[in-house]
Amino acid sequence: MKSQLSAGRGYGRYAPSPTGDLHLGNLRTALLAWAFARNAGLGFLMRMEDIDERSRPHFVTRQLEDLEALGIDWDGPVIFQSQNRERYEDVFDGLRARGELYECYCTRRELAAAITSAPHMPLGAYAGTCRNLSESEREAKRQEIAALGREVAFRLDGHGKRMCVHDAIAGEYEGVVDDFIVRRGDGVFSYNFVSVIDDGIDGVCQIVRGDDLLSSAPRQAYLASLLDFEQAEYIHVPMVLNSEGVRLSKRDGAVTMRALAEYGWSAGDVVEFLGRSFGFDGVRDASEFAECVAEVGVRGIAGEAFIFEPEGWARQFLPSRGLR
Ligand code: GLU
Ligand code: ZN
Repeated sequence: MKSQLSAGRGYGRYAPSPTGDLHLGNLRTALLAWAFARNAGLGFLMRMEDIDERSRPHFVTRQLEDLEALGIDWDGPVIFQSQNRERYEDVFDGLRARGELYECYCTRRELAAAITSAPHMPLGAYAGTCRNLSESEREAKRQEIAALGREVAFRLDGHGKRMCVHDAIAGEYEGVVDDFIVRRGDGVFSYNFVSVIDDGIDGVCQIVRGDDLLSSAPRQAYLASLLDFEQAEYIHVPMVLNSEGVRLSKRDGAVTMRALAEYGWSAGDVVEFLGRSFGFDGVRDASEFAECVAEVGVRGIAGEAFIFEPEGWARQFLPSRGLR
């Protein structure tokens, strides 16, 4: 891939997890991320979030092929989080030395129990069980854990702080910085941790992603501030939902490019279809899509989630290529 970047200009990015084929919701977010970055004159990074144990190399290949077919390009080589371990270790060691992390010995069951018995906490937030243990209590817990053949996990101490981020669509968004997991008991670094580190070190200044991650932005912005990273611009975009109002997934039928290809849909058809969800007419590739995004601006893509009803859309848009 070409790189015509002048240093210091900053990047947008798309950061898929290679755990399956990209579906229409993922592809729509990818097109928006690319469009906003290119329209702002930014570089664009492609980052595979492949430290999750569900990641598979063949999905990396397939996802990149699909994105390229839409006309999305990126600067420099694809970034693989599985190759950035040293970077994460360094940051981890630094934060630990500064006293920003603490060990957590909770089992899954204990975590679930703590959540239900702490109704004043935000949903899923950690109750802080291991935050204020004495050194002798910690030592006892460490031995318990070792006897079970497990290792301790690490959390970031949020000090109960609240953090406000600015999102181009949602506006000012404030949330509690919960003591989120930084490194799991099996040694795997968490998504919240590695994604902030990569964005910060790689010069990402614009984060476009699904609005299901808006609630993660305050804790991520807090970590970024601890690490002295420049605050990125957030654009959390509405998602594609199925007819039950649930986030689109593979279970919803022919929702990937490969599945749609079996019904005769080309990559251009997919872009046109996704463009239509914003009222764009006849856009056939990422560049045409980006031109329309530039015209309507952030306001034009804000709003309700897009409900994908295969039957209805197919009848309206491609009557000769029904999905069934
Ligand atoms: N890898 C994440 C996902 O596929 C995206 C994370 C992000 O954009 O910050 O949901
Ligand atoms: Zn704990």
